[in-house]
Amino acid sequence: APAQIAVTGLAVMGRNLARNLARNGFRVAVHNRSKARTDALIEQFGHEGEFTAADDLPALVAALEQPRKIIIMVKAGEPTDAVIEELVPLLDEGDIVVDAGNAHFADTRRREDALKAKGLHFVGAGVSGGEEGALNGPSIMPGGSTFAYSALEPMLTKISAHVGGEPCCVHVGPDGAGHFVKMLHNGIEYADMQLIAEAYDLLRHVLGLSAPEIADVFREWNSGDLESFLIEITAEVLSQVDESTGQPFVDVVLDQAEQKGTGRWTVQVALDLGIPVSGMAEAVFARSLSGDVVRRQAAAGVLAGPSSDAKLDVDRDAFIEDVRHALYSSKLVAYAQGFDAIRAASDQYGWDIDLGAMAKIWRGGCIIRARFLDRIKEAYDRDANLPSLLVDDYFKDAVVSGQDAWRRVVAAAATAGVPAPGFSAALSYYDGLRAERLPAALIQGLRDLFGAHTYHRIDREGAFHLDWSGDRKEQPA
Ligand code: NDP
Repeated sequence: APAQIAVTGLAVMGRNLARNLARNGFRVAVHNRSKARTDALIEQFGHEGEFTAADDLPALVAALEQPRKIIIMVKAGEPTDAVIEELVPLLDEGDIVVDAGNAHFADTRRREDALKAKGLHFVGAGVSGGEEGALNGPSIMPGGSTFAYSALEPMLTKISAHVGGEPCCVHVGPDGAGHFVKMLHNGIEYADMQLIAEAYDLLRHVLGLSAPEIADVFREWNSGDLESFLIEITAEVLSQVDESTGQPFVDVVLDQAEQKGTGRWTVQVALDLGIPVSGMAEAVFARSLSGDVVRRQAAAGVLAGPSSDAKLDVDRDAFIEDVRHALYSSKLVAYAQGFDAIRAASDQYGWDIDLGAMAKIWRGGCIIRARFLDRIKEAYDRDANLPSLLVDDYFKDAVVSGQDAWRRVVAAAATAGVPAPGFSAALSYYDGLRAERLPAALIQGLRDLFGAHTYHRIDREGAFHLDWSGDRKEQPA
């Protein structure tokens, strides 16, 4: 029988996705630009299901039942366009092309538009969970036409992760919606990892705990509200011992964080949407700073830290508990900001994204899978138009009850000279959000003085301008 679905691009992600499909009983046609990967897949894993190996794209297309469903899993960017260009002339009206790579959602919108004009369906599907997820069940975020999603749904929901019997896959919305949400997922992942790193750094340098001791702290945290994949693997990384030196693994790794770009995209897009995503922005900046070797070397030993009489006297267990609160509260801020950005994009592009459903499909399979995502789902179930997650009862209680601890941690970080940009930006956002009056009033005054940009009053409608260089009388603008 003809194959039900095809995968082209058989590096780690594509190979594992193809195996996942085959293991779930679907007939899969597979192809890769260089044949060696196709051969290796068939040789090593051919017994796992019904595969059809194709040497080129025409053979791949010929192997499929109609309407054809083809998943592209190649390097994001130009390679994806190259594959689409080669594929499109081989297809018939109604066929469905899925890009499961990490495309920028603007590219997905462009590609969807171009393929629609040719009578083809284009689905930009975010896939999270790394190679392990691709094989055993990722979180899948497909965007595109309802028709295309209905055709793919039985397969995608079967191969996705499941939590409580429910698939971690839902139709996110039209065109670029799926890839946008995947990008946001990665942005949140950046923020989460930065906050974890700051918690580690504070425990290490304020309390002087060793890496294995901190691993124990994270292990314990993983049994409470913080329970998540990232907290779990933090304990694992921190307890790893380097074989060649006997040192903690974390101490022999170069402290320069790399990035592939999805965090940066998230921040760039959020800037355009006008949504403050300070948690993600600080995470991206912190990675950039870590990799800025030239400036770090120039400053090391030149820019002094706190004087020795600024020594902190903190109780070990109390401080650990404070850091836990700071971590959780800062994390809630990052998620609140992330969901604000999804809502803003959904409004701007007319995607009509169900925010609660996004939290639900992130509960399993993906890198940010966590217990507290249930809380986000519940918050949006209570009020789909919640202006900020932070004002939902559960989240409000969590940040309000944790705020004293959070403040102590940010103060301790400043006193000890340990950088905590994520914790402090999150706390500033919290204080900014709840402030009755912000100093933005002064900024408006300055703008009016130097640029006649006008201002609004608290007591009367309309825009006004002061004649700053003349009689300083107020005039309606
Ligand atoms: P890579 O991103 O390393 O891409 C390698 C694959 O792309 C190979 O199959 C390669 O073929 C193919 N390729 C590259 N250029 C071309 C081209 N011009 N024409 C045709 N094929 C080309 O593979 P990954 O498996 O790591 O990732 C695949 C996609 O999934 C990417 O978009 C990535 O961002 C995304 N992703 C990756 C995750 C991960 O954890 N790695 C997680 C989630 C998403 P060849 O063998 O011939 O060189």
